[in-house]
Amino acid sequence: MKQKEQSLPDKSSRRNFLKNLGTGVGAVTLAGVGGTAAITAGKKAKSGEMIKLLSPDGKLVEVDKDDIKPAEKSVKELKAKAKTGLPGHKFIMVIDLAKCKNARKCVDACQEGHMLPKDHEWIKLYLLQDDKNTAKYWFPRPCFHCDKPMCVSVCPVGATYKRDDGIVLVDNERCIGCKFCMTGCPYSARVFNWKDPEVKLPADHVYDPETNIPPVEGTVGKCVFCADNLRKNILPRCVTACPMGVIYFGDILEDTVTNGDETVRFSKLMLDRAGFRYREELGTLPSVYYLPPNQRMFPVERGLDGYDEDIKGRYNDVGPR
Ligand code: SF4
Repeated sequence: MKQKEQSLPDKSSRRNFLKNLGTGVGAVTLAGVGGTAAITAGKKAKSGEMIKLLSPDGKLVEVDKDDIKPAEKSVKELKAKAKTGLPGHKFIMVIDLAKCKNARKCVDACQEGHMLPKDHEWIKLYLLQDDKNTAKYWFPRPCFHCDKPMCVSVCPVGATYKRDDGIVLVDNERCIGCKFCMTGCPYSARVFNWKDPEVKLPADHVYDPETNIPPVEGTVGKCVFCADNLRKNILPRCVTACPMGVIYFGDILEDTVTNGDETVRFSKLMLDRAGFRYREELGTLPSVYYLPPNQRMFPVERGLDGYDEDIKGRYNDVGPR
Protein backbone atom coordinates (compact mmCIF):
# COMPACT_ATOMS: atom_id res chain seq x y z
CA MET A 1 0.00 0.00 0.00
CA LYS A 2 1.59 3.24 -1.11
CA GLN A 3 -0.71 5.97 0.08
CA LYS A 4 2.06 8.46 0.72
CA GLU A 5 3.24 8.24 -2.91
CA GLN A 6 0.00 9.97 -3.75
CA SER A 7 0.72 12.95 -1.54
CA LEU A 8 -0.21 16.19 -3.19
CA PRO A 9 1.87 19.27 -2.38
CA ASP A 10 0.10 22.31 -0.95
CA LYS A 11 -2.72 20.22 0.41
CA SER A 12 -1.16 18.70 3.49
CA SER A 13 -1.94 21.53 5.88
CA ARG A 14 -4.24 20.62 8.72
CA ARG A 15 -5.87 24.00 8.39
CA ASN A 16 -5.93 25.00 4.73
CA PHE A 17 -7.01 21.78 3.13
CA LEU A 18 -8.82 22.89 0.01
CA LYS A 19 -7.73 25.57 -2.36
CA ASN A 20 -10.17 28.31 -3.26
CA LEU A 21 -12.56 27.32 -0.52
CA GLY A 22 -14.35 30.08 1.31
CA THR A 23 -13.53 33.73 1.24
CA GLY A 24 -13.85 34.47 4.93
CA VAL A 25 -16.67 36.36 6.56
CA GLY A 26 -15.78 39.94 7.28
CA ALA A 27 -13.39 40.43 4.35
CA VAL A 28 -13.24 43.99 3.05
CA THR A 29 -12.20 44.71 -0.52
CA LEU A 30 -11.73 47.85 -2.54
CA ALA A 31 -14.46 46.65 -4.84
CA GLY A 32 -17.14 47.50 -2.37
CA VAL A 33 -18.56 47.22 1.09
CA GLY A 34 -21.19 44.66 0.37
CA GLY A 35 -22.82 43.24 3.45
CA THR A 36 -19.68 41.96 5.12
CA ALA A 37 -18.44 45.18 6.64
CA ALA A 38 -19.72 48.54 7.73
CA ILE A 39 -17.99 51.88 8.01
CA THR A 40 -18.36 53.93 11.14
CA ALA A 41 -18.47 57.42 9.70
CA GLY A 42 -17.57 60.74 11.28
CA LYS A 43 -15.01 59.46 13.75
CA LYS A 44 -11.52 60.78 14.32
CA ALA A 45 -8.75 58.78 12.64
CA LYS A 46 -7.16 56.32 15.02
CA SER A 47 -4.54 54.14 13.35
CA GLY A 48 -3.63 56.67 10.68
CA GLU A 49 -3.72 53.87 8.13
CA MET A 50 -6.21 54.99 5.53
CA ILE A 51 -8.04 52.48 3.34
CA LYS A 52 -9.91 53.25 0.13
CA LEU A 53 -13.40 51.80 -0.18
CA LEU A 54 -16.39 52.19 -2.44
CA SER A 55 -19.36 53.63 -0.60
CA PRO A 56 -22.83 52.14 -1.22
CA ASP A 57 -23.60 55.08 -3.56
CA GLY A 58 -20.50 54.36 -5.68
CA LYS A 59 -18.11 57.02 -4.34
CA LEU A 60 -14.49 56.22 -3.56
CA VAL A 61 -13.90 57.09 0.10
CA GLU A 62 -10.94 56.88 2.45
CA VAL A 63 -11.46 55.68 5.99
CA ASP A 64 -9.20 54.88 8.88
CA LYS A 65 -8.60 51.16 9.32
CA ASP A 66 -9.86 51.36 12.91
CA ASP A 67 -13.18 52.72 11.73
CA ILE A 68 -14.00 49.60 9.76
CA LYS A 69 -15.73 46.88 11.65
CA PRO A 70 -17.62 43.77 10.64
CA ALA A 71 -21.32 44.26 10.09
CA GLU A 72 -23.59 42.21 12.32
CA LYS A 73 -24.49 38.93 10.71
CA SER A 74 -28.20 38.33 10.50
CA VAL A 75 -29.79 34.96 11.16
CA LYS A 76 -31.56 35.26 7.82
CA GLU A 77 -28.28 35.71 5.94
CA LEU A 78 -26.60 32.87 7.77
CA LYS A 79 -29.52 30.54 7.13
CA ALA A 80 -29.54 31.38 3.43
CA LYS A 81 -25.79 30.75 3.26
CA ALA A 82 -26.15 27.49 5.18
CA LYS A 83 -28.73 26.29 2.65
CA THR A 84 -26.58 27.18 -0.35
CA GLY A 85 -23.47 25.45 0.96
CA LEU A 86 -20.18 25.64 -0.88
CA PRO A 87 -20.80 25.45 -4.65
CA GLY A 88 -18.52 23.21 -6.68
CA HIS A 89 -17.73 20.85 -3.82
CA LYS A 90 -18.97 17.44 -2.72
CA PHE A 91 -17.55 16.56 0.65
CA ILE A 92 -16.63 13.09 1.81
CA MET A 93 -15.01 11.51 4.85
CA VAL A 94 -12.90 8.37 5.08
CA ILE A 95 -12.36 6.62 8.42
CA ASP A 96 -9.44 4.21 8.73
CA LEU A 97 -10.53 1.53 11.19
CA ALA A 98 -7.03 0.04 11.22
CA LYS A 99 -5.73 3.10 13.06
CA CYS A 100 -8.45 3.84 15.62
CA LYS A 101 -7.69 3.03 19.24
CA ASN A 102 -10.47 4.98 20.89
CA ALA A 103 -8.39 7.97 21.87
CA ARG A 104 -11.75 9.84 21.82
CA LYS A 105 -10.12 13.13 20.89
CA CYS A 106 -12.58 13.41 17.99
CA VAL A 107 -15.49 13.24 20.43
CA ASP A 108 -13.93 15.82 22.76
CA ALA A 109 -13.13 18.25 19.93
CA CYS A 110 -16.62 17.93 18.49
CA GLN A 111 -18.29 18.50 21.85
CA GLU A 112 -16.09 21.48 22.63
CA GLY A 113 -16.49 23.00 19.17
CA HIS A 114 -20.27 22.71 19.22
CA MET A 115 -20.81 23.45 22.91
CA LEU A 116 -22.35 20.04 23.46
CA PRO A 117 -22.92 18.56 26.90
CA LYS A 118 -20.80 15.51 27.71
CA ASP A 119 -23.64 13.07 27.12
CA HIS A 120 -24.21 14.37 23.58
CA GLU A 121 -21.92 12.69 21.10
CA TRP A 122 -22.33 13.70 17.48
CA ILE A 123 -19.49 11.32 16.69
CA LYS A 124 -19.77 8.09 18.61
CA LEU A 125 -17.22 5.36 19.21
CA TYR A 126 -18.57 1.82 19.04
CA LEU A 127 -16.64 -1.30 19.85
CA LEU A 128 -17.56 -3.83 17.20
CA GLN A 129 -16.86 -7.51 16.70
CA ASP A 130 -18.27 -9.13 13.59
CA ASP A 131 -18.04 -12.67 14.93
CA LYS A 132 -16.91 -14.27 18.18
CA ASN A 133 -13.86 -15.63 16.35
CA THR A 134 -12.81 -12.29 14.88
CA ALA A 135 -11.03 -9.33 16.41
CA LYS A 136 -12.78 -6.41 17.99
CA TYR A 137 -12.27 -2.97 16.52
CA TRP A 138 -13.29 0.61 17.21
CA PHE A 139 -15.83 2.15 14.89
CA PRO A 140 -16.21 5.96 14.91
CA ARG A 141 -19.64 6.94 13.60
CA PRO A 142 -20.42 10.56 12.67
CA CYS A 143 -23.50 11.50 10.65
CA PHE A 144 -22.98 9.87 7.25
CA HIS A 145 -24.41 12.85 5.32
CA CYS A 146 -26.25 10.39 3.11
CA ASP A 147 -27.03 11.31 -0.50
CA LYS A 148 -30.45 9.72 0.05
CA PRO A 149 -31.00 10.75 3.66
CA MET A 150 -33.99 9.07 5.24
CA CYS A 151 -33.94 11.73 7.97
CA VAL A 152 -34.61 14.47 5.43
CA SER A 153 -37.41 12.64 3.66
CA VAL A 154 -39.39 12.12 6.87
CA CYS A 155 -39.06 15.61 8.39
CA PRO A 156 -42.57 17.14 8.26
CA VAL A 157 -41.44 20.78 8.52
CA GLY A 158 -38.34 20.93 6.32
CA ALA A 159 -36.08 21.60 9.30
CA THR A 160 -33.41 19.26 7.98
CA TYR A 161 -32.09 19.47 4.45
CA LYS A 162 -29.39 18.19 2.10
CA ARG A 163 -27.10 20.69 0.34
CA ASP A 164 -25.49 20.31 -3.07
CA ASP A 165 -22.07 20.04 -1.41
CA GLY A 166 -23.28 16.87 0.31
CA ILE A 167 -23.82 18.20 3.83
CA VAL A 168 -27.03 17.48 5.73
CA LEU A 169 -27.92 20.21 8.23
CA VAL A 170 -30.63 20.85 10.80
CA ASP A 171 -32.23 24.24 11.39
CA ASN A 172 -33.04 23.92 15.07
CA GLU A 173 -35.13 27.08 15.00
CA ARG A 174 -37.47 25.24 12.63
CA CYS A 175 -37.26 21.84 14.32
CA ILE A 176 -40.44 20.93 16.21
CA GLY A 177 -38.84 18.01 18.07
CA CYS A 178 -41.10 15.33 16.58
CA LYS A 179 -38.09 12.95 16.36
CA PHE A 180 -39.23 11.51 13.00
CA CYS A 181 -35.68 12.08 11.71
CA MET A 182 -34.23 10.11 14.62
CA THR A 183 -36.51 7.22 13.76
CA GLY A 184 -35.73 7.58 10.07
CA CYS A 185 -31.95 7.51 10.46
CA PRO A 186 -30.81 3.88 10.31
CA TYR A 187 -27.49 4.75 11.95
CA SER A 188 -28.74 6.49 15.12
CA ALA A 189 -26.70 9.52 14.14
CA ARG A 190 -29.12 12.06 15.66
CA VAL A 191 -29.30 13.20 19.25
CA PHE A 192 -32.30 14.72 20.99
CA ASN A 193 -31.74 17.70 23.27
CA TRP A 194 -33.80 16.63 26.24
CA LYS A 195 -32.80 19.58 28.35
CA ASP A 196 -31.34 23.03 28.03
CA PRO A 197 -27.55 22.54 28.10
CA GLU A 198 -27.22 26.09 29.49
CA VAL A 199 -24.21 27.05 27.41
CA LYS A 200 -22.69 30.49 27.85
CA LEU A 201 -22.78 32.19 24.46
CA PRO A 202 -20.75 35.23 23.43
CA ALA A 203 -22.79 38.45 23.54
CA ASP A 204 -22.74 38.79 19.74
CA HIS A 205 -23.70 35.18 19.03
CA VAL A 206 -26.04 34.69 16.07
CA TYR A 207 -27.62 31.32 15.34
CA ASP A 208 -26.11 29.57 12.34
CA PRO A 209 -27.24 26.09 11.19
CA GLU A 210 -23.65 25.43 10.06
CA THR A 211 -22.59 25.18 13.72
CA ASN A 212 -25.99 24.48 15.25
CA ILE A 213 -24.92 26.29 18.40
CA PRO A 214 -26.50 26.33 20.89
CA PRO A 215 -28.17 22.94 21.26
CA VAL A 216 -31.81 23.90 21.97
CA GLU A 217 -34.02 21.96 24.32
CA GLY A 218 -36.68 19.95 22.50
CA THR A 219 -34.82 19.84 19.16
CA VAL A 220 -32.53 17.40 17.38
CA GLY A 221 -28.80 17.80 16.72
CA LYS A 222 -26.16 15.87 14.83
CA CYS A 223 -22.73 16.07 13.18
CA VAL A 224 -22.57 18.93 10.69
CA PHE A 225 -19.23 17.97 9.03
CA CYS A 226 -18.02 21.25 10.63
CA ALA A 227 -19.58 23.22 7.78
CA ASP A 228 -18.45 26.46 9.46
CA ASN A 229 -14.82 25.32 9.35
CA LEU A 230 -15.08 24.30 5.69
CA ARG A 231 -16.26 27.79 4.85
CA LYS A 232 -13.03 29.06 6.41
CA ASN A 233 -10.92 26.45 4.60
CA ILE A 234 -10.29 24.53 7.82
CA LEU A 235 -10.65 20.79 8.30
CA PRO A 236 -13.42 19.45 10.56
CA ARG A 237 -12.55 19.42 14.25
CA CYS A 238 -12.54 15.62 14.57
CA VAL A 239 -10.00 15.33 11.73
CA THR A 240 -7.47 17.71 13.27
CA ALA A 241 -7.98 16.40 16.81
CA CYS A 242 -7.29 12.74 16.03
CA PRO A 243 -3.74 11.89 17.10
CA MET A 244 -3.78 8.70 14.98
CA GLY A 245 -4.74 10.32 11.68
CA VAL A 246 -7.79 8.07 11.51
CA ILE A 247 -10.15 10.52 9.82
CA TYR A 248 -9.63 11.81 6.29
CA PHE A 249 -11.77 14.54 4.79
CA GLY A 250 -11.98 15.93 1.31
CA ASP A 251 -13.84 16.47 -1.89
CA ILE A 252 -14.92 13.63 -4.16
CA LEU A 253 -14.99 16.02 -7.14
CA GLU A 254 -11.27 16.61 -6.61
CA ASP A 255 -10.74 12.90 -5.80
CA THR A 256 -8.72 14.01 -2.79
CA VAL A 257 -8.85 13.43 0.94
CA THR A 258 -6.49 14.42 3.74
CA ASN A 259 -6.09 13.64 7.41
CA GLY A 260 -3.93 16.74 7.78
CA ASP A 261 -0.67 14.78 7.66
CA GLU A 262 -1.02 13.14 4.29
CA THR A 263 -3.16 13.94 1.29
CA VAL A 264 -4.17 11.07 -0.95
CA ARG A 265 -6.22 10.20 -3.98
CA PHE A 266 -9.60 9.07 -2.69
CA SER A 267 -10.18 6.57 -5.52
CA LYS A 268 -6.77 4.95 -5.07
CA LEU A 269 -7.21 4.75 -1.32
CA MET A 270 -10.53 2.97 -1.82
CA LEU A 271 -9.02 0.50 -4.27
CA ASP A 272 -5.81 -0.15 -2.32
CA ARG A 273 -7.54 -0.64 1.00
CA ALA A 274 -10.87 -2.13 -0.10
CA GLY A 275 -12.86 0.81 1.23
CA PHE A 276 -16.56 0.37 1.91
CA ARG A 277 -19.62 2.18 3.19
CA TYR A 278 -21.46 0.98 6.25
CA ARG A 279 -24.65 -0.92 5.43
CA GLU A 280 -24.53 -0.15 1.73
CA GLU A 281 -27.57 -2.37 1.26
CA LEU A 282 -29.84 0.31 2.80
CA GLY A 283 -29.40 2.49 -0.27
CA THR A 284 -28.84 5.70 1.71
CA LEU A 285 -25.57 6.41 -0.15
CA PRO A 286 -23.45 7.68 2.78
CA SER A 287 -20.74 10.29 2.22
CA VAL A 288 -18.61 8.52 4.82
CA TYR A 289 -16.39 5.62 3.76
CA TYR A 290 -14.47 3.15 5.88
CA LEU A 291 -11.17 1.36 5.47
CA PRO A 292 -11.31 -2.12 7.03
CA PRO A 293 -9.56 -2.85 10.35
CA ASN A 294 -7.13 -5.39 8.91
CA GLN A 295 -3.37 -5.14 9.35
CA ARG A 296 -4.20 -2.95 12.30
CA MET A 297 -1.62 -0.33 13.17
CA PHE A 298 -2.53 -0.23 16.88
CA PRO A 299 -3.91 -2.80 19.30
CA VAL A 300 -7.47 -2.28 20.52
CA GLU A 301 -7.00 -0.56 23.84
CA ARG A 302 -9.50 0.61 26.36
CA GLY A 303 -8.24 4.16 25.88
CA LEU A 304 -10.63 5.37 28.54
CA ASP A 305 -8.40 6.61 31.34
CA GLY A 306 -9.81 9.77 32.82
CA TYR A 307 -13.28 9.29 31.37
CA ASP A 308 -16.52 9.11 33.34
CA GLU A 309 -17.71 5.76 34.63
CA ASP A 310 -20.75 5.81 32.35
CA ILE A 311 -18.50 6.03 29.29
CA LYS A 312 -16.15 3.35 30.61
CA GLY A 313 -19.15 1.14 31.38
CA ARG A 314 -20.04 0.93 27.68
CA TYR A 315 -16.87 -1.00 26.98
CA ASN A 316 -16.64 -3.36 29.95
CA ASP A 317 -16.09 -6.35 27.72
CA VAL A 318 -12.89 -5.14 26.13
CA GLY A 319 -9.40 -5.19 27.53
CA PRO A 320 -5.91 -4.58 26.19
CA ARG A 321 -4.95 -7.00 23.43
FE1 SF4 B 1 -29.63 11.49 8.05
FE2 SF4 B 1 -28.75 9.46 9.55
FE3 SF4 B 1 -27.88 9.70 6.99
FE4 SF4 B 1 -27.06 11.46 8.89
S1 SF4 B 1 -26.63 9.23 8.84
S2 SF4 B 1 -27.81 11.96 6.80
S3 SF4 B 1 -28.89 11.62 10.20
S4 SF4 B 1 -30.00 9.29 7.65
